[in-house]
Amino acid sequence: MMATTHVFAGLAVVAPVAYAVPELATPLAVGAVLGGLLPDIDLVFEHRRTFHFPVIGAPAAVAAIGAALLVPSNATAAVAACFVAAWLHAASDALGDGPEFDPATGDGDRAVYDHVHDRWLRPRRWVRYDGAPEDGVLAVALAVPALVVFEGWIVSVVAAGVVISIGYVLVRRRLVARLPEWLE
Ligand SMILES: [Zn+2]
Repeated sequence: MMATTHVFAGLAVVAPVAYAVPELATPLAVGAVLGGLLPDIDLVFEHRRTFHFPVIGAPAAVAAIGAALLVPSNATAAVAACFVAAWLHAASDALGDGPEFDPATGDGDRAVYDHVHDRWLRPRRWVRYDGAPEDGVLAVALAVPALVVFEGWIVSVVAAGVVISIGYVLVRRRLVARLPEWLE
């Protein structure tokens, strides 16, 4: 899935909370955006393993939500949103493809690493590859709650993300075909 799809998924989850508690909308949005993006910085380590926690991330997210409910503040809300979005990112990576860039060679059986059971989770391929048409549809659909609930710069960021996502989906296949010649 695209980075934007992960970010929009995190924002969609926190949107109802932000709607109910508008004074926490900004920290919730910032936390969700960071949580949607952060797992993929393991691209420079072992991708989909070092910072992806599809299983252990769930109790961590629950604990962070508990802390935010016990001590509501900007900081605890942002951390809880970040943990939830990061867990959702890692868990949903198992529903997509493997981490290969070229979908044609994407026949691997490693979607994301489960640190609890010490094994790789299999890709379900509901989204065949990042930037697939279904990824674009998912991204746009997941962006809607954020566009409705949030205000100001957050809406601008989400709208820009939607445009980038659609553009990426449109050029994605050509990118795979052309990249080898550009790299020569
Ligand atoms: Zn990921």
